[in-house]
Amino acid sequence: MTQAKKQVVRTKKIILPLLPLRGLVVFPYMILHFDVGRKKSVEALEYAMVNDQQIFLVAQKDVQKDEPDIDDLYQFGTISKVKQLLKLPGGNIRVLVEGTHRAKISRFISDDEYVLAEVKQYPNVKSEVTDNLEALVRTAKEMFDDYCQMLVKIPHDTVVAVMNVQEAGELADLIASNIFIKIEDKLEILQEINIEQRIEKLMLILQKEIQILQLERDISGKVKEQIDKHQKEYYLREQIKVIQSELGDKEGINAEIAQYKQKIQKLKMPKEAEEKLYNDLDRLAKIPSMSSDSGVIKTYLDTVLELPWNTQTKERFNLKKAENILNQDHYGLEKVKERILEFLAVKQLAHDIKGPILCLVGPPGVGKTSVARSISRAMGKNYVRMSVGGVRDEAEIRGHRKTYIGAMPGRIMNALKQAKSKNAFILLDEIDKMSADYKGDPASALLEVLDSEQNHSFRDHYIELPFDLSDVFFVTTANTLDTIPRPLLDRMEVIEIASYTEQEKTEIAQKYLIPKQRTAHGIKATALKITADAIKDIINYHTREAGVRNLERQIANICRKVARKIIEDGEDKTVITPLNLELYLGRRRFSYETIGRNDEIGIATGLAWTSVGGDTLQIEVNVMEGTGKVELTGHLGDVMKESAMTAISYIRSKSNEFGIDNQFYKKSDIHIHVPEGATPKDGPSAGITMATALISALTKNNVRKDVAMTGEITLRGRVLPIGGLKEKVLAAYRAGIKTVIIPIQNEKDIEDIPKNILNEMKFVKAENMDTVLETAMVIKNEETQLSFINNIGSSYSERESIKQ
Ligand code: ADP
Repeated sequence: MTQAKKQVVRTKKIILPLLPLRGLVVFPYMILHFDVGRKKSVEALEYAMVNDQQIFLVAQKDVQKDEPDIDDLYQFGTISKVKQLLKLPGGNIRVLVEGTHRAKISRFISDDEYVLAEVKQYPNVKSEVTDNLEALVRTAKEMFDDYCQMLVKIPHDTVVAVMNVQEAGELADLIASNIFIKIEDKLEILQEINIEQRIEKLMLILQKEIQILQLERDISGKVKEQIDKHQKEYYLREQIKVIQSELGDKEGINAEIAQYKQKIQKLKMPKEAEEKLYNDLDRLAKIPSMSSDSGVIKTYLDTVLELPWNTQTKERFNLKKAENILNQDHYGLEKVKERILEFLAVKQLAHDIKGPILCLVGPPGVGKTSVARSISRAMGKNYVRMSVGGVRDEAEIRGHRKTYIGAMPGRIMNALKQAKSKNAFILLDEIDKMSADYKGDPASALLEVLDSEQNHSFRDHYIELPFDLSDVFFVTTANTLDTIPRPLLDRMEVIEIASYTEQEKTEIAQKYLIPKQRTAHGIKATALKITADAIKDIINYHTREAGVRNLERQIANICRKVARKIIEDGEDKTVITPLNLELYLGRRRFSYETIGRNDEIGIATGLAWTSVGGDTLQIEVNVMEGTGKVELTGHLGDVMKESAMTAISYIRSKSNEFGIDNQFYKKSDIHIHVPEGATPKDGPSAGITMATALISALTKNNVRKDVAMTGEITLRGRVLPIGGLKEKVLAAYRAGIKTVIIPIQNEKDIEDIPKNILNEMKFVKAENMDTVLETAMVIKNEETQLSFINNIGSSYSERESIKQ
């Protein structure tokens, strides 16, 4: 901006009646009229008329205010001459004024009937004609011209008037009073006494306005374009419709309808279903073939007609053959196979009595799916696997109603479509991983599917016709029974498949997995041999699982590498041993904790059962001087925390017998930690382990490193039974533990444990903590030795231990 030349301004003070204006700014030399209604304003006008007709017009800040105070008015206004008054009906006055001078309020004088104000009047200076000002004037006029081009609202007369003004200050005033800008912007021009600066300010404002107008123009242009495009498309579409109906595409649709009719007749569906489909065909004939409704009906008909309403596979059932197939495909699993065959025999005999549904439960990779597949093969049924894990919405099972856009049939109907037979074999996988949300409970829909009383007329929401599911053979699988809804569980016959021992895994690998993968990779039997020791190393150091799924994957890994060697190097015989195993599978990924350490104070070995089988669990306890705080760490669940508290209560009640200071729970802080803190742990079966570690830490006696234990503890120190004994014992065996303490009530589970392991381990059956402590503790600390032996020593002789 150019530096303005300093102007000398002589002001004078005069007293004038004041008239507040709403949303209006008057500039000197401007003539305009407006209506006045407020009483004080009318009085002010009258006062002006009887004096020299001069009045001070000033804009008010808030147009809502009826009686504005000095603070409610802007400071700058215009002294004007009242040229004419016209009384309007209703008491209003129309007044014609001409602005004469800029002025600024100094003070209010009275405000009873009208307001007088003392104002500082600025003279109307004419600018000197300089080149700079001349340039400014021309540019301002050009800009105003641009502005008017864009805004048609400015009258032509005004444009002419502006173009004729030569004096810069007057030009700025005239333009400012004629453009549509905020009142604050107008005042900005009014209060600028310096002419050069005034016209520059005006140009800035004009510039901004022009930009905004330009933007508005662009936006409205785009909107118009869009609307035009839509209209065109709509118009064209309508035209297509008319043309089609004129030409009558009925030929095509009639042929389609005839085809549908034929298909319906061929299917020999139940009467009700047939009628409904004929109705749909009638509807299809009536509506325009291009309409979306027509598409919906056709998709529906296609889906319904693809269902196996009357197709069946020929069932061939022979128990002996079934047994052969099961044996062919699976190693071991004697008990499982036996129960499956019994189940099938009953089904065969009592064909019409609808039995329960088979549910195979066990950790991943133990062969649930493949057992199910073998059953379907043995029965001559078409097999379809359908995972229900993660299903949260009832509609996934039962379909969406047709009123939804993009509605589809549910998974059961889809499975049947896939099976292409009414007497299919459907495996519902991961039934324990289903959950419910606000969209309805899928379990209740499944209940209807599995219930033999109801499933002869199952109605999918999309299909809308009853479908007979009673010939379908359903089998379900789950990892755990805990999360299967009770009513579902009640309808199922549960067969548990436990995890495999290292021995069993080795056999499965040798007899089944290796031959299977060799064939799959096109490797001859002579070209690849994996020694038993190498298999054991894969099992122990490259997988950690209850089943054999990863074992199979690792074998497949080896096969891939061997296949490459055969092609690239012409290798015709590869033998995998523990020595070269790492070349094929990389570094060992797991190591099982073995009891390499010494007997220690405050550390006891427990046994846990997880979805990948059993594992050992070290429980560590530290007792420190303190104020009785108990801290439990290692991501423990609520049940586990509660059993820690139970153990502490038990110890408090027996503190004298253990020779522990009976105030220990007030004087010391206890910290119980279960390592591998990131793995969540829960369940009550670590109760006796925590109690043992606690007593050891409090009495400063060691716990034997080669003893592991599992069992729930009660407040009185009784030992209650736990689940998953077989898995836990296998884990202890792997870790090199020789003695396992088990609850006496778990005695019956010992028979599930393989013979070779039973022969190498000792089981101590505990009824209460005394047995646990005398088996697991090494009593060295002399202070406690006496009371210990005296109190629990009595049961030494009765100690029940078995060596199988
Ligand atoms: P799950 O359904 O229990 O998770 P899968 O049926 O998928 O387990 O089994 C994984 C793999 O292990 C399959 O290839 C299966 O054939 C094989 N397998 C599992 N158990 C046995 C077994 N006892 N004998 C032979 N192969 C088995």
